Amino acid sequence: MKLTAWGQYPVIDTKVILPNAVLAQKLVLESSVIPFGNGRSYGDSALAPNIVPMLSNDRFLNFAEESGLLTCESGVLLADIIEIFVPRGWFLKVTPGTKLITVGGAIASDVHGKNHHVEGCFSACVQEFTLMLADGAIVRCSREENQELFHATCGGMGLTGIILEVSFSLKRIKSKHIDQTTIKTGNLEETFAAFEAYKNFPYSVAWIDCLAKKADIGRCLLMVGDFANDGNLNYKAKKNVSIPFEFPGFALNNLSVRAFNWLYYGKVRKRVTQSQVDIDSFFYPLDALDHWYRIYGKGGFTQYQFILPKEKSLIGLKEILEQISSSGKGSFLAVLKLYGPANENYISFPMEGYSLALDFKIDPGLFALLDKLDEIVAYYGGRIYLTKDVRVSKTIFEQGYPLLDKFREVRSRYGLNKRFHSLQSQRLGI
Ligand SMILES: Cc1cc2nc3c(=O)[nH]c(=O)nc-3n(C[C@H](O)[C@H](O)[C@H](O)COP(=O)(O)OP(=O)(O)OC[C@H]3O[C@@H](n4cnc5c(N)ncnc54)[C@H](O)[C@@H]3O)c2cc1C
Repeated sequence: MKLTAWGQYPVIDTKVILPNAVLAQKLVLESSVIPFGNGRSYGDSALAPNIVPMLSNDRFLNFAEESGLLTCESGVLLADIIEIFVPRGWFLKVTPGTKLITVGGAIASDVHGKNHHVEGCFSACVQEFTLMLADGAIVRCSREENQELFHATCGGMGLTGIILEVSFSLKRIKSKHIDQTTIKTGNLEETFAAFEAYKNFPYSVAWIDCLAKKADIGRCLLMVGDFANDGNLNYKAKKNVSIPFEFPGFALNNLSVRAFNWLYYGKVRKRVTQSQVDIDSFFYPLDALDHWYRIYGKGGFTQYQFILPKEKSLIGLKEILEQISSSGKGSFLAVLKLYGPANENYISFPMEGYSLALDFKIDPGLFALLDKLDEIVAYYGGRIYLTKDVRVSKTIFEQGYPLLDKFREVRSRYGLNKRFHSLQSQRLGI
């Protein structure tokens, strides 16, 4: 069958191996496989000639009401957890900008949300999981048991085996609403100052106008917030609107992005605005549009996400935003986030600093621009996020991940490097 991930690029032929009782046997027979969650990674990390689809591995197994510890299979979607647990006063401790991902995918990418500076990555709330290794054996992994497999698997992009069952903590909430403050800034210095001034809020994220020029470079709308206290837990997921067909190639260009950015930034008049929003609008605005990748046309798109160490973030981001602005390749989505310290996982993405994520339609000249941006990221000691990537070079990747050799060594010691491969891992020689 044909398979692609969220960026719709590349599209490959793949064979599906079902995750049932014969899986262990099959694993021994198949030369190489990669687990596939809900395909919300953007590039080629879940793509391979043989995939193991995990969505049907989706049973809830236990919930400890006193501690908030949930045990479920790895194919459960975050959306299902929210639907069931928000009305009971529980929410995810860490959630990315989409709820349409599996728990296995959340661990394999060690995803982060708007609260990394407070709560860290998804792995921070994981107590333990079971993992199927290359020979079909199933082991329990935690910070106490099989620690190396635990730290390799969190952020390990499916390259250390198949995550089967997971126990992780939820957090108590008193409302389905979030009290949000929006701060409008005029340039990058003001944006950084605002992040610092509001860093006591558990959630923060900024939308940057990436086509702004000169003195306006880095101007943004910074949204910060926390759960309200009103006791209203009457949550129902919002109905989605669908983009019905792929837009023609000319629909999305420098002009349309510039017009969108101008309107979006301009619609906020005051420097500081207060509002109350619901969970779906605050955490998952993009989920409201089904198939929104269709606006990028048939050729697909990619998300470029990098992080820079805090002390280099201002200078590095300025250079990168200048390059993007002068290239004329705009992005509707340009999201800046603040991160707390890195964790112990070998190839997790976050480090203490700032990260920017930008969506770009795939077109001639894009990869040359991204290669240039890679050089700036590497120069300032940053790294690229694997779960979004489809084209970074081996050299740039290796420079960004100092514990990569440890990751490779664990993979080799357990024979995982003979069984688990994605297009991405082969491209990058992981
Ligand atoms: C709109 C949108 C917003 C996003 N926002 C964020 C964000 O804010 N922060 C963030 O960190 N990420 C974000 N992401 C990325 C997304 O959270 C990750 O790519 C996530 O891993 C996707 O999970 P999935 O279940 O779809 O897995 P897939 O995309 O299918 O796979 C992703 C990786 O997980 C591995 N994997 C999947 N299941 C298993 C398993 N059971 N065992 C072992 N490995 C497995 C795959 O092999 C692959 O390497 C966003 C994506 C979208 C589309």
